[in-house]
Amino acid sequence: MSIPILSSCNSKQKIDLLVYHATVYTVDSNFSKAEAVAVDKGKIVAVGNSEELQNEFDANEKIDAKGKFIFPGLIDAHSHFLDYGLGLNQADLVGTTSWNDVLDRVKTFAAQHEEGWIVGNGWDQNDWPVKAFPTNETLTELFPDRPVILSRIDGHAAIANNKALELAGVKAGDKLEGGEVEVFNGKLTGILIDNATRLVYSKVPNPTTAQLSKALLDAQKKCFAAGLTTVSDCGLDYSMALLIDSLQKKDQLKMRMFVMLTDSKRDYDFLFKNGKIKTDRLNVRAFKLFSDGALGSRGACLLQPYSDKPGWSGFLLSSREHFDSCAKIIAAHGFQMCTHAIGDSGNRIMLEIYAKYLKGKNDQRWRIEHAQVINKNDFHYFGDYNIIPSVQPTHATSDMYWAGDRLGTERLKYAYANKELMNENGWIPLGTDFPVEDISPIKTFYAAVFRQDAKGFPPGGFEMENALTREEAIRGMTIWAAKANFEEHEKGSLEKGKFADFVLLDKDLMKADEKDVLNTKVLMTFVNGEKVFDQKTD
Ligand SMILES: [Zn+2]
Repeated sequence: MSIPILSSCNSKQKIDLLVYHATVYTVDSNFSKAEAVAVDKGKIVAVGNSEELQNEFDANEKIDAKGKFIFPGLIDAHSHFLDYGLGLNQADLVGTTSWNDVLDRVKTFAAQHEEGWIVGNGWDQNDWPVKAFPTNETLTELFPDRPVILSRIDGHAAIANNKALELAGVKAGDKLEGGEVEVFNGKLTGILIDNATRLVYSKVPNPTTAQLSKALLDAQKKCFAAGLTTVSDCGLDYSMALLIDSLQKKDQLKMRMFVMLTDSKRDYDFLFKNGKIKTDRLNVRAFKLFSDGALGSRGACLLQPYSDKPGWSGFLLSSREHFDSCAKIIAAHGFQMCTHAIGDSGNRIMLEIYAKYLKGKNDQRWRIEHAQVINKNDFHYFGDYNIIPSVQPTHATSDMYWAGDRLGTERLKYAYANKELMNENGWIPLGTDFPVEDISPIKTFYAAVFRQDAKGFPPGGFEMENALTREEAIRGMTIWAAKANFEEHEKGSLEKGKFADFVLLDKDLMKADEKDVLNTKVLMTFVNGEKVFDQKTD
């Protein structure tokens, strides 16, 4: 008797999930394409042809992608995830068209939240008819007894009412390092720049653990809907990292996170004593420092004065000695240093300090966050010392309307120079800096490639010599962002053995018409093989 041929069904390997009939951009080293992804126990077991994988695997769940487009889960290399979540429960001032508009929104918010501090975020006077900073008279009249603090979109300036200033003990003529308390005709205007904002924020009651947890879960929901599967949170206290870890271990927080700790003795002591934290969902190995402020509020530290404020060059947020001593201990302990640097002077100082401790070619992946305005003689540091420029393409298209006023034409040529920076190491991670910018990675892609706003301005794009190709932009949001976090072996591409983190989009970002890109919809998001967002049901 002949041995019966096993039915193909019996010989099939049982797996959790098969997604087929898709165009799969694997973002492997060849940027190769496939049609199907097979997933088991949270990992990718195969990527290939639809028919072959259907024959090979018996999947518990099968999803017909109907010809739509799969990319690796999108990674935001620079965000403020927790702040974004907290902001979802504060007065939203993004997109306000005037100071009066801000006041209206604050009034509405105050009516809905009847007690305590009023905290708001997201105003930008550069978007208003009057581009000067507002002053706080009306805010003080409206809220004589309730403290109010409203942060500018970049977080580098805020306006407080008199009650808040009083509680914080801020007085006209106060001086502090790395900050400015604005005074006009001998009176406080309520405007606080950089470190001065902390005087007031330090008086705002800390959110409770329940509020923090809610903020993280609220942020996660929005980010999954946007196709993000990993976010870097740039600057949290170690206690927040532990809270994140506990929510992840309870399986409530499924977002993968790279958390940079703050430049504080507590955080250095904690990480040096306990060592790096690395789980499948959390990676803590870096410190976030601030070299200078932002360009919008003229807090970025420039080598030459601002073109629109003679004699003013901005300032460093700490002394050079401080940055040097931090670099020294971070290098000695083998951790990663990530420094916010916007102005060409703020960048140069950090590049020089990084070079001193990195010594030459290396794989420490020390990062400059933003790397926004670079002196033309300083680009070489990135390549010579393998310093990673971590950039946010939407900053270019948000700032392009006024960046030239601040910098003048000559310096502007070397600002937002994403391509030139990428060429230094051959790779570049991309992010958004949300909530400074929108969370959408589709907007990042559009800004990186087309360098225009949503209305197609400017025609032809802003400084197109610094545009990235579509492939580079996709890599920047996936495998290169993973690499900036030392995670390229576990995520960032769809290859056997990696986490099954991926998104299903309704458009082909590699081919879609420029005018259609911003209409791209996230249909589904998967983390660890689990569907965490479905456009149909969420
Ligand atoms: Zn940031």
